[in-house]
Amino acid sequence: MLLLTEDFCGVFHFYLRCVSVVISLLVQVQVDSRIWFKRFFYSKSMIKKKQFIFKVVRQDRQTKARVGILRTPHGVIHTPAFVPVGTLATVKTMTPEELTAMGTDVILANAYHLYLQPGDKIVKKLGGLHKMMQWDKPIITDSGGFQVFSLAKLNRVTDRGVEFQSHLDGSRHFLTPQKAIQIQQNLGADLIMSFDQCSLYPCSKKLAKEAMERTHKWAVLGKKTWQGNYRQMLFGVIQGGVFPDLRQESAKFITELDLPGIAIGGISVGETRKQMYQVLDVVGPFLPKSKPRHLLGVGSPVDLLESIARGMDTFDCVLPTRIARNGAVYTRSGRLNLRNCKFARDSGPIEKNCRCYTCRNFSRGYLRHLLVTKEILGVRLTTIHNLYFVLSLMRRTRAAIKQGKFSAFKRNFLKKFGRKDV
Ligand SMILES: [Zn+2]
Repeated sequence: MLLLTEDFCGVFHFYLRCVSVVISLLVQVQVDSRIWFKRFFYSKSMIKKKQFIFKVVRQDRQTKARVGILRTPHGVIHTPAFVPVGTLATVKTMTPEELTAMGTDVILANAYHLYLQPGDKIVKKLGGLHKMMQWDKPIITDSGGFQVFSLAKLNRVTDRGVEFQSHLDGSRHFLTPQKAIQIQQNLGADLIMSFDQCSLYPCSKKLAKEAMERTHKWAVLGKKTWQGNYRQMLFGVIQGGVFPDLRQESAKFITELDLPGIAIGGISVGETRKQMYQVLDVVGPFLPKSKPRHLLGVGSPVDLLESIARGMDTFDCVLPTRIARNGAVYTRSGRLNLRNCKFARDSGPIEKNCRCYTCRNFSRGYLRHLLVTKEILGVRLTTIHNLYFVLSLMRRTRAAIKQGKFSAFKRNFLKKFGRKDV
């Protein structure tokens, strides 16, 4: 009886083992067939296309303002979006967790600065910008064009590229449109910019035309180097100074290149606000509705709302963080300088109804004390507030556009805030 039971148990275990082997084989076959199915039916181009999708979800009826969603390999950007600037791969004084907590969708790093230090190849060795910075959301890099023409000592500018000396140590470099793309490939940002020659204000029409034509040639060369890289979305840059006919010509040329995104450069470089808005007005009709539009170097609250009304989607600017380090903070009633002695005994927050970490915990008087004594915490706290203010302004703007109330929202905001914000 005992022997019979042992035999039965042995056969039963053998049977169970056979069944489990068959099941695991079936599972493996199923997994393999799924991979095979995907490889067979999803061509590479289909996978490529899925990396970046831009969709306008709501268009304002009275203005050109729009709400959109830009999907990238590192997540979604809700537009209109303000893009905090991390020039040297850090938004000064902020940790990635803090940026995420205040609702940052995307940040911008600077190709020129990172090429000079630590070097784009070192960034690549450290795993690329996302891994190095521990920022797993979308990143934009600019091409370095603006910095080369505004910071570095220029030696020679030709259609092939720019020979310049570093503003740090005087070392000589030659930056070409192809190299600007390669640097951005090494950095590994999601959204990258074509190399452009920025004509600073004031600038003669002849020079602005030359810079624009060179920017166009560089955009063609940059496009060839990029070659539809499905991990990065290339933006062509419109130039042309403050001259409406040049801006139109540039908008037409860059649009016809059919790159995935379009940026407007050479804005906010010293021209008046009226001139800046005029540029956006003349360029607007040439921009395809289906593509994201980035405005380089614009980020004051007034300019943000005016540019959104003219159909722009994303904006990067050092202004909110730079002025914060000098003690200037935004409130709904305008800009304040906390270093002013009138705040020394002020026990209230920067702004009563602000939900940022700074306003929930600290008084204007304490912040003034930190700023005056140059304590690091002071600039951290003012930076937190200003970024929160601008990001919250974008959130409220998106909501207003969705509700069809953008014009009233803009009017009410500007009435209270005023136009002195820079
Ligand atoms: Zn606040």
